[in-house]
Amino acid sequence: MDTRKRRERRLVSGIGVSGGCAAGPLFFLNRAEAESIDPEESLPASPAEEWERLAKALETVKEELGLLAERTQASVGEEEAGIFRIHAMLLEDEDLLDAFREEILRKGKSAEDALEAGVDRFSAILGALDDPYLAARTADLADLATQVRRALRGRSSSHGTALPYPCLLVAEDLSPSETILLDRTSLLGLVTLRGTPSSHTAILARAMGIPALVNVGSLDPLYDGETALLDAVAETLLLAPTEEEELAFLERVERERRIAREHEAYLHALGDRPAVTQSGRRILIYANIGDGSEVESALAGGAEGIGLLRSEFLYLGLGELPSEETLFHAYADVVLRMGDKRTVIRTLDAGADKQLPYLGLPQEENPALGMRAIRICLARREMFKTQLRAILRASALGRLAVMLPMIVSPAEVRACRELLDECMRELTAEGKVFDQNLEFGIMIETPAAALQARELAEQVDFFSVGTNDLLQYTLAADRQNPLLAQLCEENREPVLRLIGEAADAIHEKGGWIGVCGEMAADLRLTQRLLALGVDELSVAPPYLLSLRRRVTECE
Ligand code: PEP
Ligand code: MG
Repeated sequence: MDTRKRRERRLVSGIGVSGGCAAGPLFFLNRAEAESIDPEESLPASPAEEWERLAKALETVKEELGLLAERTQASVGEEEAGIFRIHAMLLEDEDLLDAFREEILRKGKSAEDALEAGVDRFSAILGALDDPYLAARTADLADLATQVRRALRGRSSSHGTALPYPCLLVAEDLSPSETILLDRTSLLGLVTLRGTPSSHTAILARAMGIPALVNVGSLDPLYDGETALLDAVAETLLLAPTEEEELAFLERVERERRIAREHEAYLHALGDRPAVTQSGRRILIYANIGDGSEVESALAGGAEGIGLLRSEFLYLGLGELPSEETLFHAYADVVLRMGDKRTVIRTLDAGADKQLPYLGLPQEENPALGMRAIRICLARREMFKTQLRAILRASALGRLAVMLPMIVSPAEVRACRELLDECMRELTAEGKVFDQNLEFGIMIETPAAALQARELAEQVDFFSVGTNDLLQYTLAADRQNPLLAQLCEENREPVLRLIGEAADAIHEKGGWIGVCGEMAADLRLTQRLLALGVDELSVAPPYLLSLRRRVTECE
């Protein structure tokens, strides 16, 4: 039974980044440590009872790790699932268990204190050994200790995948790697203290169709577990509502769900008819996805292709660089399921807000202006070639296209083309098949690329405009900074003009141009984008049907 006292009713506001509303208990991710701990909690019971508590918590975490390993094996691969299996084995280490036993049974400490002391002692021993592999396990131990501490409080692991109950998740901000591990089945809604509408959390929330509110400022962790009503349209979160408010809200949620279902049915009635404007222009409606798990919703929404596969999401979910085999299987899965529909794989766009710690890159003052995306790939050629080889091999299985992010110069494109050709030669020598005419494109995400669109168009088959970054770099306005969200909203004109120039340049060379940034999903801009000559619009799966309908209304 929940014995927590009800907290004070409070209304907080933020920025709604995806539609809808949801009600449920709040769950604070990674905030357990900030909770005020009941002093009673740290008073030890009898040593036997404390040992039993700790043993039970260890078992719980091991079970969660087992589940996580199974999920990872199914969605990513055996090699990656091994990380969680090793973590589970660490919790069975006899020396570690001896350390816990000694702290509790001999020194009479509580389970929590014994956990901390035992892990500290064991980490010190590992750290002192002259073995980098074992020394690296101390970081794993610290992570595991956090999970066991949560289990001792009757909570589930902080791994993110195992949300303890259907909840409104509260996080400071979510990194894309945390997001990828979220248990989507228990996620009713998302609340972040920071973040902006074009942050990756927001993009993901939209993709998952989850009501989300970002940038709420601060939330007292004492509200953890408390009921809240999230209204992403009104951009509010009501904490500890009265019973009447909760009831009225739930009725509203039900009513809106019914209307949404009717709307969906109406849109589905459009059937598989292609999106054709009033003047007879055929526009391609594609989907943006992060991995294979979203292919189904893309196809259900009538996607005619994948316009942006954010390939870095796979890298973010791992603790080390994926192998060519891992990448090949992930791409093959998507390509095979898309059949004869085009899939555009964007090459690794790491850096900025999507850091891969295992690359060991130096810290930067301004990461969004630093080593990111193609800059990293050109500096780590072997890593890049691994990805290009995997893409090429998957191209034999369907209709693939490759696309380079964050391009600023024709020289970068040439260097990438040379690497792609080198990979083609290697694969040919190895007797491996691939699409010799693999479509080759770039993202227009920097003013430099838009301004050199004519030269760049000579080298590629298509452009796809990343308006999130193009807006950020054109307006010199950090896409993560909530104070600048309004400025970005009000100043899209310069970006629209750049899109027009890029469209003219690529059309002159017989290529095509798409838009895959968030502006593609803004129905107020559809008419303008089409007038500028855009051939393809790529959006998160929940927006596909309404975009298709909007296109049919345009001239
Ligand atoms: C963009 O910048 O608009 C884009 C589609 O890429 P991302 O949002 O992943 O940076
Ligand atoms: Mg981008």
